[in-house]
Amino acid sequence: MTLTATEGHADHGYHVPRPNRDAELVRWEPATAAEDRRRVLRWTCRCRSEVYYLVSAGGRGYIERRRVGEANVQTARMRHAEVADLWERILLGQAR
Ligand SMILES: [Zn+2]
Repeated sequence: MTLTATEGHADHGYHVPRPNRDAELVRWEPATAAEDRRRVLRWTCRCRSEVYYLVSAGGRGYIERRRVGEANVQTARMRHAEVADLWERILLGQAR
């Protein structure tokens, strides 16, 4: 079986699918200065021109989106349970 790029696993991280047509719109804000103790918990595949990071900082979490040629953007800070839920929806194409 031949894997296509979007299904690839070897040496690749998660590839975010094209969002669903009815995907929830995430409110992205310009990235603010990082907290002192920022930990990147998860990230999507860096082979893509768009990469998402799940970040924990100061007991709260947020998602950062980096696109080639664009300024980095972030979600608001939120509870870990909320940000984990949003992360999953982005990975499933249910939020963008
Ligand atoms: Zn990849």
